[in-house]
Amino acid sequence: MNVKSLHKAFKSQFDIVGVIKTKTYLEAAKTLKLTVPKIDYPTIVVLGLAYPKHILSHSKTHLVPSIYTFGMDYHEVLKSRIDLVMKNIPYDYLVGVDNHPHNERLAAKTAGIGFFGKNQLIINSDYGSYIFLGMVFIDLKITDEYTLKITDDCGECTMCIDACPTNALSENGYDKNKCISYYNQTKKVLTDKEIENNNLLFGCDICQLVCPKNIEKGKITHPEFELSGKELVSIVDLFTKSNKEFNDIYSNMAYLWKGKTILMRNALTILLKQNNQDYNELIKSSIAKYDMPWYQEVATKILKKLSS
Ligand code: SF4
Ligand code: SF4
Repeated sequence: MNVKSLHKAFKSQFDIVGVIKTKTYLEAAKTLKLTVPKIDYPTIVVLGLAYPKHILSHSKTHLVPSIYTFGMDYHEVLKSRIDLVMKNIPYDYLVGVDNHPHNERLAAKTAGIGFFGKNQLIINSDYGSYIFLGMVFIDLKITDEYTLKITDDCGECTMCIDACPTNALSENGYDKNKCISYYNQTKKVLTDKEIENNNLLFGCDICQLVCPKNIEKGKITHPEFELSGKELVSIVDLFTKSNKEFNDIYSNMAYLWKGKTILMRNALTILLKQNNQDYNELIKSSIAKYDMPWYQEVATKILKKLSS
């Protein structure tokens, strides 16, 4: 099998496909002095799957997570599409989607999937940053690579840096600990500033929404990423359903992967912004029921403010 047929096979399931030698990726890492794990497979296919940009807002009864979680869990979507392609390719392979130790963005840049934006995301000329990335390590030696040409970059633009409410972005890089999307997915007591800055049930969309490279992007969709109604999360469900009941109702959604209590804590920050006192009794019972100090402390603090 040559690189062209490998590329064609993956193009049947993915919007953007690059095929590189593992050696090229390791050299790129070395040049940038990045440590990456050893890889036993000689070829890497780097994939991009576009997802749509739907703008939804919180209401007094339902809250919304980040745009990338609106469809089915992308980890599963990418894995099943990769498995489907590999059914017809008789070589051993490993899949990496998001939660693996490899440097997905470096691989994507090396394969020409897109440039590395100041918002820390890979930006493709056709799809902007609204793409999920995946990697497939294949036990197949290739003689040539199939890389795409990157012709764009951020240039002088600093719109994401200027718009980031927590100063997590700068010309020199990114401070993960300041990023809303990082801390609102972490089981911890939020500081007053973190509570004030959080704006979604899960994740943060600000630096993608302001990016000029995303204008007129996010229009492509795939069946798995169509709206299902589960992107609007009922506040009553959050505070009254058991973990199992909640997971059954909102099954397959990417925002579930850190558990329901994280969503409850983040929901409290939005209720506070809305000065929405309709759920005070439910919050009160949740403090007694959810024996997690990082949740109880935030819930107690916010309930006090909502009740005053
Ligand atoms: S996701 Fe939000 S907090 Fe994080 S860098 Fe982007 S704008 Fe800043
Ligand atoms: S907003 Fe501007 S600086 Fe930030 S990623 Fe987009 S183009 Fe680059």
